[in-house]
Amino acid sequence: MFCGAAAGVAPRYREVARAFGAAAATRGFGLVYGGCSTGLMGAVADGALDAGGEVTGVLPDVLGGREPGHPRLTELLRVPDMHTRKAVMTALVDGFVALPGGYGTLDELFEALTWRQIGTHAKPVALLDVDGYFAPLITFIDQATRAGFVAERARHFFFVEQSAERLLDELARIVATEASAPGPR
Ligand code: AMP
Repeated sequence: MFCGAAAGVAPRYREVARAFGAAAATRGFGLVYGGCSTGLMGAVADGALDAGGEVTGVLPDVLGGREPGHPRLTELLRVPDMHTRKAVMTALVDGFVALPGGYGTLDELFEALTWRQIGTHAKPVALLDVDGYFAPLITFIDQATRAGFVAERARHFFFVEQSAERLLDELARIVATEASAPGPR
């Protein structure tokens, strides 16, 4: 999970994040995220934990307490720095989901995409769009594709859904398909 350490201005961001966490937990998905208790990050974790799900946080020491660790997590892994956080999260997950967020979320999202591009992993990447939050970003990526800077193949490394349920359906389908595919992932 990648999403904002802030909650955003509209209450709907927090509501969607919480509902997404609950929906994922209800389907038996374990969640891995940055480990803090604030903003959409905290809301996703709360939603999943309150629905009985398992949530692993990966919190870098370099933040020095700026993002407080969530007190109720199934597991809180402490790592030295941001790069280790992303590597550990990537190793632990079957797929990536981004909710609205800021620079940190975008950095993590693009790292998941660039690592997929160079073959570091072959895991699906999904955006849960809330009220068109990601629309300008998708427009830009489409422009970058038309301009020849993003390969057509790489444009489809991520998919976008407005509904948490549809996103989870698609993620489960891709993970199941890839798990049953022959050869290395
Ligand atoms: P934001 O979307 O800016 O609210 O940040 C979401 C999360 O990403 C926060 O936990 C940030 O600490 C984290 N973050 C910020 N920069 C990086 C980075 N370079 N690598 C990994 N995580 C980051």
